[in-house]
Amino acid sequence: WRDRKRKPDWMKRIVPGGDKYTQIKAKLRELNLHTVCEEARCPNLGECWGGGDGHTATATIMLMGDTCTRGCRFCAVKTSRAPPPLDPKEPANTAKAVGAWGVDYIVLTSVDRDDLPDGGSAHIAETIKLLKAETGGRLLVEALVPDFQGRRESVEEVARSGLDVFAHNVETVKRLQGAVRDRRASWDQSLSVLKMAKQSGAKISKTSIMLGCGESPQEVMAALRELRDNGVDVVTLGQYMRPTKRHMAVAEYVTPGAFRAYELAAKDMGFLYVASGPMVRSSYRAGEYFLANVLR
Ligand code: SF4
Ligand code: SF4
Repeated sequence: WRDRKRKPDWMKRIVPGGDKYTQIKAKLRELNLHTVCEEARCPNLGECWGGGDGHTATATIMLMGDTCTRGCRFCAVKTSRAPPPLDPKEPANTAKAVGAWGVDYIVLTSVDRDDLPDGGSAHIAETIKLLKAETGGRLLVEALVPDFQGRRESVEEVARSGLDVFAHNVETVKRLQGAVRDRRASWDQSLSVLKMAKQSGAKISKTSIMLGCGESPQEVMAALRELRDNGVDVVTLGQYMRPTKRHMAVAEYVTPGAFRAYELAAKDMGFLYVASGPMVRSSYRAGEYFLANVLR
């Protein structure tokens, strides 16, 4: 008998540090950029930012502020019905700062802004255009975007902005959507956003599922199948970790062997790329596999 709710050894990891990390951190403060890597205390930070040993430096930048209009039960981001207005200078500042930073692959993510008529799609699209212009197209850009309440115009605006990867997370299996995500989100809406993105010309669509929320293996397999049937190209699977005691409890720590089995099954279904493991996050070493396997 094993306590499936106690953090197992494979979930323990060394805290990031070292010269490169300290240097990047100082530079970020100087440029007033906020990364999910830091805010979420992501355990992969050392690996992602470090680059070197044959992989590409990747980071995840947060746009549109630190306050979300939704309140998902797994997420530590602040919530308000009326967050502060967008910073109109943010797209240009982000492009300059990321250009100067010199990473090869950037993931842009954001809070949900249901208070804005377009959900922030124009702001995101502008940031992508400026990033591409600033770096002469060299930088690869993945945008992890909200569902925009399923609005086609918003999805199209982002999908046609020149990005390389359109990402939107379904987060969990169909049955658990209501228990895990904000009530304004749903499986069908997220799936339709991913589908619309491809129809609008996005080269690659990508999504993520957190495991350990109470889903069954059959439900995970059904989710993967439906995603693939709807043209989703890339999927990542990782372990849910509870940010604080006020958040949804972990139902189970899924074993590395089970993650591996899902990875093989997903590859068999024809996904272009699959990352699956206890520590995998949606942007985990994102640049590495895209540069090596998909985009070049
Ligand atoms: Fe940042 Fe994502 Fe890497 Fe974590 S997995 S360090 S959030 S880029
Ligand atoms: Fe967190 Fe995104 Fe949910 Fe907002 S919509 S609470 S940022 S997971």
